[in-house]
Amino acid sequence: MRLSFDIDPVLEGRARLTDAQALELYRRAPLHDLGDWARAVSRRMHPEDYRTYVIDRNINYTNVCTAKCTFCGFRRDHDDADSYTLKFEQIGAKIEELISIGGTQILMQGGMNDRLPIEWYEELLGFISTTYPSVHIHAFSPPEFVEFERFFGLDVREILRRFKRAGLKTVPGGGGEIFASRVRKRIGSIKCSGDDWLRVMRVCHEEGMNTSCTMMMGHIETLGERIEHMSALRDMQDYALALGKGAEGNGGGLLSGVIRRTIERHRGVFEKSPFVPEAFGSGEPGFRAGQYTAFIHWPFQRENVPLGRAKEYDPAIHGDFDSLEHEDVQKGRVVRSAGADEYLRMLAVARLYLDNIRSLQSSWVTMGPKIGQLALHFGANDMGGAMMEENVVSAAGTTYKLAVRELCRLIRDAGWVPAQRDQYYNVVRRWDSPDSPDMVPDPTPATRSVAKLEDSTWIGAAPGLESVKVNLEGQSPDDPERAKRHQLTVLG
Ligand code: SF4
Repeated sequence: MRLSFDIDPVLEGRARLTDAQALELYRRAPLHDLGDWARAVSRRMHPEDYRTYVIDRNINYTNVCTAKCTFCGFRRDHDDADSYTLKFEQIGAKIEELISIGGTQILMQGGMNDRLPIEWYEELLGFISTTYPSVHIHAFSPPEFVEFERFFGLDVREILRRFKRAGLKTVPGGGGEIFASRVRKRIGSIKCSGDDWLRVMRVCHEEGMNTSCTMMMGHIETLGERIEHMSALRDMQDYALALGKGAEGNGGGLLSGVIRRTIERHRGVFEKSPFVPEAFGSGEPGFRAGQYTAFIHWPFQRENVPLGRAKEYDPAIHGDFDSLEHEDVQKGRVVRSAGADEYLRMLAVARLYLDNIRSLQSSWVTMGPKIGQLALHFGANDMGGAMMEENVVSAAGTTYKLAVRELCRLIRDAGWVPAQRDQYYNVVRRWDSPDSPDMVPDPTPATRSVAKLEDSTWIGAAPGLESVKVNLEGQSPDDPERAKRHQLTVLG
């Protein structure tokens, strides 16, 4: 297949992919070519012989939420019987479990609970950072900050400064979904606008805090809206990097053309929370501007959520989805789900397009371990977290949870050395030796009873993490006659 442009300068980092070129790649390039190109860029940006993961724990401190996102199965109202807000001791117990398995980070997010005052958050952050100083607090998200502004009557800059003083280190990019207002109106009725999401992250970067960015795809959005979403992220990362140059003493950086152009192009992002260049980083020794450290995207999960009840896209009925000509598509009544091919295609295009965001994470939580592993060959350089707890995505039907040994095995089998990292992508330890988690027998393997029928059909075995190792209760697995008569155990 011939592209309308030369891809080589993009692969070598000498040219930037335009929006039109990104769309062309997405629509026309064979999946294997996209994988080859994305892998080449990933190897150029990350020539190391390892690929990383972090041991973290999701803590959803409350499930009470004022928003009603149509893709969410987690939120509750105050008066629901199963609504909750965790006590500090409960949060502390979760962190102790994390530390006991060598974890370094918590990803703490809630619903948006209008009955918690700012002092509750400050006390919580202070409690965690003083009781568990080794644990990195990666917490909240732009929609939460926008609601905090409303709940507390303060600008996000003031809230962030207070939270930072109390112990907040970085902010995860939850709630990005798709920035286009047509889409946001349909999928998150009260949630913050795309401009507000970008504004909160801009202020984080101006205040010296790193963040990540996300995209949830495979629902009512067009391909163009996905590229627009990534375009805004790339612009705002240019802005953050230009700020960084200014903070490092390149005085021209703060008023550089990049900054002026970004302000002009994204006026809505700069309307509130004004930035004062003269005060930038003042008074803080060694101040550094923040930036997006990673991009993570995943497909929408249909199960157990209101948006999941929408009709599935049918080209024969709805025509070209991306033209938005059919009223049901335009109004978001039709979902175009994304499977493994779409996920990997999008990942590869993201690696080629987002040339200023260093890390791309594999979304094994939603895609499962096998596609999560394959993602390392389509542009991802990081497996994200070996999570101890996951409520929001699993409430929407996704239940994959991987232990460190499986994550290490996936990385090693894909051709790299597994390495545990911290939130700043520093390697905490590499697993080269024979005592690596994936190289020693599991002392407490998960077991599952399965049986083999007369016709040799296996029942009870499920796809996922099980190895092919089979115990025949002391019998040889090679003896088919005996296998028919015995209950078997698959070791996971
Ligand atoms: S996704 Fe988050 S913000 Fe939206 S309803 Fe669920 S908990 Fe609330």
